[in-house]
Amino acid sequence: MKILVINCGSSSLKFQLIDSDSEQVICKGLCERIGIDGSRIVYTPAEKDKITIETPMPDHNKAIELVIEALTNKENGVVSLDEIGAVGHRIVHGGEKFTESVVINDEVIKAIEDVSDLAPLHNPANLIGIKACQKAMPGVPMVAVFDTAFHQTMPENAYLYGLHYSYYEKYGIRRYGFHGTSHSYVSKRAAEILGKDIKDLKLIVCHLGNGASISAVKDGKCIDTSMGLTPLEGLIMGTRTGDIDPSVVEFIMKKENLSVAEVTNVLNKKSGVFGLSNELSSDFRDLEDGYLAGNEGAKRAVDTFAYRVVKYIGAYTAAMGGVDAICFTAGVGENSGFTRKKIIDGLGFIGASLNEEANAVRGKEEIISNPDSKVTLMVVPTNEELAIARDTYALCK
Ligand code: AMP
Repeated sequence: MKILVINCGSSSLKFQLIDSDSEQVICKGLCERIGIDGSRIVYTPAEKDKITIETPMPDHNKAIELVIEALTNKENGVVSLDEIGAVGHRIVHGGEKFTESVVINDEVIKAIEDVSDLAPLHNPANLIGIKACQKAMPGVPMVAVFDTAFHQTMPENAYLYGLHYSYYEKYGIRRYGFHGTSHSYVSKRAAEILGKDIKDLKLIVCHLGNGASISAVKDGKCIDTSMGLTPLEGLIMGTRTGDIDPSVVEFIMKKENLSVAEVTNVLNKKSGVFGLSNELSSDFRDLEDGYLAGNEGAKRAVDTFAYRVVKYIGAYTAAMGGVDAICFTAGVGENSGFTRKKIIDGLGFIGASLNEEANAVRGKEEIISNPDSKVTLMVVPTNEELAIARDTYALCK
């Protein structure tokens, strides 16, 4: 079966067409600037060159039309419309309602709408993507795969904040965690690579990309993760603060005469390694170059980022009563041996020993610890689209 995977944002739409038998990507692409001037679709059919078409895209319905046209057109299309057997949608927030992927029906759509308060930027965009696909492909089954679902196994003591309990009861304010599809995929894949039953493993997954989160996976279940009610908490990220004292918000508001929305924007868009490096870059390639060239801001940003990761690894090792393997994934985790080393240099206390030669690896599965290391260190590239396609196939086959 051919599965179309859709990741719909407010002004963008990423897609991949995946063959469920071979698990190969048949075509992947991106619609950008939906509803804004200068919109375009960029896509790459397997083994062909990238195609870019600049064309107006007033809304997501038009974007989906163009995706289908790209996949099915006579000249360089890759399938006929009736070959697309199911569509898998990435949904950011499933609240407490969704602990696993589900086939989309009216009730599911209503439930996703109901939790939109928790992800006001993302869930409405995800819903627009679902509705546009339903319109363009009536009768094709659709599946919702939630970023939060994998973390729903966290125990109460890990997901509750030290807030008055009534806020949890009234509004569902708690830690939900994100990147769940990635943490799930990587932890399962790590167990396969290690040749062990995931039920016998204590794993820490470091998803280090532009957004970054870390999770503790014990016996195949997430028992803690660093992102919270929203994806702002936890690790220092490209432009997001991660953990800070909440009083900082009021303090900056007063000093800089800013509104809550403006400070929230600072915390999300102007902070992280970008802010720490005095706006040198949010991209670790630039920061690494800067670090090696002696740039103080780059050094400060990367060292502070790495320290935060080490602190969480320590906390999660305590939470699980030990750790068997630490997995690095996503843009930075998969590609930056430099940043991995900065982190692993802080892990001597758990007997981690880095194989520097193996650590030169980029973007592929590799054990990067020495044989005598007390904890296995590994690079496990994530593949959220494949995980979504697998869930979609399992529910629709
Ligand atoms: P992601 O959000 O997972 O797509 O990760 C994107 C981030 O990965 C970029 O902003 C870079 O910081 C980082 N990245 C990608 N490639 C490299 C690389 N070769 N070396 C260091 N960092 C990289």
